[in-house]
Amino acid sequence: MLTHMPCAPLDSDHHAAVPVRADSFRTSRVPTPLAPIVPMHLDTDVAVIGGGVAGLTVACQLAAAGQRVTLFEARSRLGGRVVTATAAPLVDTPWLDLGPAWFWPHQQHIRALVAHFGLSVFEQHRAGLAMYDAGDGRAPQPFDASGQTARSYRVVGGMGALVQALVTASQTGPHPVTVHRDAAIRTLTRHDDGVVLNGDGFHCTAGRVIVAAPPRVVARDIKFAPPLADRVVETLRSTVTWMAHAMKCVVTYDAPFWREAGRSGYAISWGGPLQEIHDACVPGHDRPTPDRHPAGYALMGFVAPPTGVAAQGFRAANREERRAAVLSQLVRLFGDRAQRPVDYAEYDWSRETQTCGQDDALPPGAHPEYGHPLFEGGAAGDSWQGRLVWAGADTVADGGGYLDGAVASARRAAATVLALRTAT
Ligand SMILES: Cc1cc2nc3c(=O)[nH]c(=O)nc-3n(C[C@H](O)[C@H](O)[C@H](O)COP(=O)(O)OP(=O)(O)OC[C@H]3O[C@@H](n4cnc5c(N)ncnc54)[C@H](O)[C@@H]3O)c2cc1C
Repeated sequence: MLTHMPCAPLDSDHHAAVPVRADSFRTSRVPTPLAPIVPMHLDTDVAVIGGGVAGLTVACQLAAAGQRVTLFEARSRLGGRVVTATAAPLVDTPWLDLGPAWFWPHQQHIRALVAHFGLSVFEQHRAGLAMYDAGDGRAPQPFDASGQTARSYRVVGGMGALVQALVTASQTGPHPVTVHRDAAIRTLTRHDDGVVLNGDGFHCTAGRVIVAAPPRVVARDIKFAPPLADRVVETLRSTVTWMAHAMKCVVTYDAPFWREAGRSGYAISWGGPLQEIHDACVPGHDRPTPDRHPAGYALMGFVAPPTGVAAQGFRAANREERRAAVLSQLVRLFGDRAQRPVDYAEYDWSRETQTCGQDDALPPGAHPEYGHPLFEGGAAGDSWQGRLVWAGADTVADGGGYLDGAVASARRAAATVLALRTAT
């Protein structure tokens, strides 16, 4: 089974998030007001923990329903598992997705959100023959993968454009969401009339809390008083953070030479660090000029799990060694032209502590079954009396693990909070 077949505003200093470097690439800066990390006390109707797609979506929905919403994000950037990078100055690559890139036609929730924001989409390139490398010394062979690859779509501007649209939406309307970055929540304490959230140097009183951080990260990092019931803790610990183990490498070129040779760019390989490779070109690019290198042409690969022989030692090697290993594999699959990239980017999600813990360092054997009933409604054990509501891609059955699930979970959490408010 392949891992991935497609196919802060207490002041308004407007500093963009500290960019996360992906080698020569810069992640897109999502401009949100920057909250000061000073001792402070906040008061809000609903606190949202986690500024990924789920947290941002539920924050927007509740703010639109008239709730005072405060969102706390541990990282200095928003988006969570969504990272869209921009390229080095001389390279005219507008964007590269180093986290999620695709959504699929059957995924109604993410499709509706993308359509709601009027984002342009395009179909993942699949035309041409795929390549298969058995890794046994024989030359890689072309094959027809048209029956294996499902139609999928990408967003123009990358998934970062979706995060940017959510951030913009969160700041418009009569009830803008208060967003705090660099604001990890450490403890949650339930009181009779609400919950107190504590972070480093701040605390916040909220009527209800929506936890939209990955369940395993929550179980590891957040202390609950009263403690969560054992079965809830067990459920959090056993919920896989989808793709947390993943590492993506993206190589950009000044021409789509594989397409010109009748290849789709899709490859399955056991002969190097990348196990699954895809065309990652972005639309609307021309040939290079003397002073500009339009590098809208790219190949992207998922690094094989560390247990795979071909990828052993890859993540521990230095960047130059990794780059060389990736290029050598692409040469083997697509010819000598692959040796002349414009740029190379990589992103190892297993090193991101807010995404990946020890239990997620290796991939599950198959796509997990998501959607434990304990994540539904305000159920976090009776002791929390509906004050705690779960969201996040990994908490729903419908689209579990995917962006679609993140949006579905946000809708569920918003409906739960509004229903609980009406009931009390
Ligand atoms: C390499 C890769 C490729 C992927 N490809 C696809 C794809 O093509 N299509 C697809 O649909 N999905 C894909 N996914 C999955 C997709 O990225 C996720 O489903 C989605 O982004 C999860 O959103 P989320 O908001 O639920 O969680 P996250 O994005 O993980 O957001 C959770 C947020 O909580 C924050 N947080 C954690 N702890 C705390 C704390 N204590 N206090 C405050 N904040 C905290 C984190 O920093 C993070 O920002 C991919 C993922 C990866 C890594």
